[in-house]
Amino acid sequence: MDKNDKSKPSNRVIIVSNRLPVSVARNNGNLNITPSVGGLATGLSSFHRDSNGLWVGWPGVDPVNSEEKKAMENTLRNDFSCLPVYLSAYDLKKYYYGFSNRTLWPLFHYFTTYSTYEKSEWKAYRKVNQLFCSRLLEVLEPGDIVWVHDYHLLLLPDMLRQENVDNAIGLFLHIPFPSMEIFRYLPWREEILRGMLGADLIGFHTYDYTRHFLSCVLRILGREQEYGQVVAGNRLVKADTFPMGIDARKYSDAVNLPSVISEKETLRDKLKTEKIILSVDRLDFSKGIPERLRAFELFLEKYPKWRNKITFIMLCVPSRTKVEQYQLLKREIDELVGRINGRFARPGWLPILYMYRSVPFNELIALYSEADLALVTPLRDGMNLVAKEYLACHSKMGNGALVLSETAGAAAELGEAIIVNPNDMEMIADAIAQGLDMTLTEKKAAISFMSRRIEKYDIFRWAEDFIEHLSHIRGLHDLNKQRFLNKDLQGVMRDSYKKAEKRLILLDYDGTLVSLKKKPELAKPPAELLHLLSNIKGDPKNTVVIISGRDRECLSEWMGESGVDLVAEHGTWLFEADLDKWWIKEEGLAEEWKKNFYPILEMFSERTPGSFVEEKTYALVWHYRKAEPELGDHRAKELMDALHDMLSGTALQVLRGSKVVEIKPAGVNKGKAAMYWLGKEKKWDFILAMGDDWTDEDIFAVVPENTWSIRVGFKPYTKANYFMESPVEVISLLRSLADIKD
Ligand code: UDP
Repeated sequence: MDKNDKSKPSNRVIIVSNRLPVSVARNNGNLNITPSVGGLATGLSSFHRDSNGLWVGWPGVDPVNSEEKKAMENTLRNDFSCLPVYLSAYDLKKYYYGFSNRTLWPLFHYFTTYSTYEKSEWKAYRKVNQLFCSRLLEVLEPGDIVWVHDYHLLLLPDMLRQENVDNAIGLFLHIPFPSMEIFRYLPWREEILRGMLGADLIGFHTYDYTRHFLSCVLRILGREQEYGQVVAGNRLVKADTFPMGIDARKYSDAVNLPSVISEKETLRDKLKTEKIILSVDRLDFSKGIPERLRAFELFLEKYPKWRNKITFIMLCVPSRTKVEQYQLLKREIDELVGRINGRFARPGWLPILYMYRSVPFNELIALYSEADLALVTPLRDGMNLVAKEYLACHSKMGNGALVLSETAGAAAELGEAIIVNPNDMEMIADAIAQGLDMTLTEKKAAISFMSRRIEKYDIFRWAEDFIEHLSHIRGLHDLNKQRFLNKDLQGVMRDSYKKAEKRLILLDYDGTLVSLKKKPELAKPPAELLHLLSNIKGDPKNTVVIISGRDRECLSEWMGESGVDLVAEHGTWLFEADLDKWWIKEEGLAEEWKKNFYPILEMFSERTPGSFVEEKTYALVWHYRKAEPELGDHRAKELMDALHDMLSGTALQVLRGSKVVEIKPAGVNKGKAAMYWLGKEKKWDFILAMGDDWTDEDIFAVVPENTWSIRVGFKPYTKANYFMESPVEVISLLRSLADIKD
């Protein structure tokens, strides 16, 4: 693409993560750049190459002078398509070791007592996210897709939005998202959620994490979801599940590499053991390593037949060694290994072979493929790629067994493994024995099932799937964007208003002219609003109707002096200011039914703190805006279900509005009321209809196609032609219309 032609979209994928996929190190004054190991780096590297994109992240060192900086940037950019973000020692300490790894990591893994809440670390986290944001702004082009990774950069998506970045932004969280009960501990919970909602698509490994996130968004920010979609300003944000895969082919093929075969031979030769159990983890408290060692000790006690015949190879990769919790954990593991080996070892047999280092790829593959059983028992793990890598190495021969913790994200996909509770020592000990005793046929059956899935939904498919979803969401966004009533469209509207001789203005009240309040009685119209309405109504070319769900008394008292026409109870009662009286359009409405249904609604309000029943002339309404949101929604569904059955065959209908469930006579709705005014003229030159909830959809359904129909608050599935963000915008639009005089 011609880089200077900004009109053409680039379609580059810009990956952003804390670390780059390559590590830079100094060697005798020279810079050494080597590819990083680890799931994210290796898995996404091929995708990165193919997408012709850019990877933004920390290179691992800070340049000492401008010459080194230039050299480093050139090599990273030209040879690896990477753009470095430099972090000072202070930033690293506070943002990386601090907020990322002493606050978010333990909290998101449910280790609440390990989480610290330091304001200076939070500030550094914000600052580093801002550094990433500034770096991105230097290179972003129209059409670039930004893909942010992991818990280090949760504020970045919204920071980009604050800078008016309109590119597609995806965010993937590689660790669990905890339940609301845990997440609420975080003093900066709102900022973190808002930061994440800057993305168009937010991906999680499992459905549970997605669910937890949506529940936090509802309960902390008060934003409801529909099919995993949340409205953030004028954007639709989708949260969805994408279980991360591995480069399965690379692992299954590596088993036959000559260097791996020779490693395997050396291993068997040196160990002289009948069976090998393997565990591979970073040394991290979330991995359940002490618990696993105790379970192995119990296994040796409970199943003495395996003594002398089995070796447990425990590979622990050093990690975050500067954090105190990790140093304490290392000491605990050292002691446990010493104690168990001391207790069971015999000349020529050591039960645990403990390695505290990382190993090269061929050695790792040799370990995976020689292990008869993999023991993957984290206390909590976002996904766990080790389990998948082990299975991929056994996909051809099928001669392996996997013991897997139910609290690893991978367990959601690998149901054929032997699933254990990582805190239940007895269960793990028995699972080891079960795995070792499995027949080859049993092992093959389980492995072939699991490896098929791993091969199919591999890292490439995973990345493609995410980007496809992001593009889809983005497509919807672009369509919806054209429907926002921007300044230009408002200008067109004003022109058409100016020219019109007969204008009909249909307005909902709550949520449209005034913002929604916890208690309905608090949403009284301010004097300026009444003045504005009477001003518009004062123009003889205008007919103004407020179409509300409120009762007659309230509307008369609140809106009477403005002189506009009124509709109460969603279309039951009509009031024309000229006639100065309320009347019912639908004949034969009855109200006896209310005594049968009142007790049912009462029962629901007793069971749902914060909710209450409102009685209208011809309707009963159960309000739950003040109830705990999830309980309220749950009860509303229950009530709707119960009422649907009871109302069948009656002349009543049940409607669900914004935090209300309403029972009222069938055949009465806002659309029918609107039709009455629509029918008053042969041809209206200008029609404006505004509403914020789905009871207003009945109005949008009956107005002519060329109506300025506006849904207030962004909702993608509406019959209205346009959107406006909030009542504040509505009022300013109405003011600008009121200013138009002949
Ligand atoms: N790994 C590595 N070197 C080693 C041992 C393991 O690079 O010496 C890799 C392993 O292949 C896997 C990753 O480290 O891809 C661990 O990922 P996992 O999801 O299991 O745990 P995480 O470390 O992300 O919590």
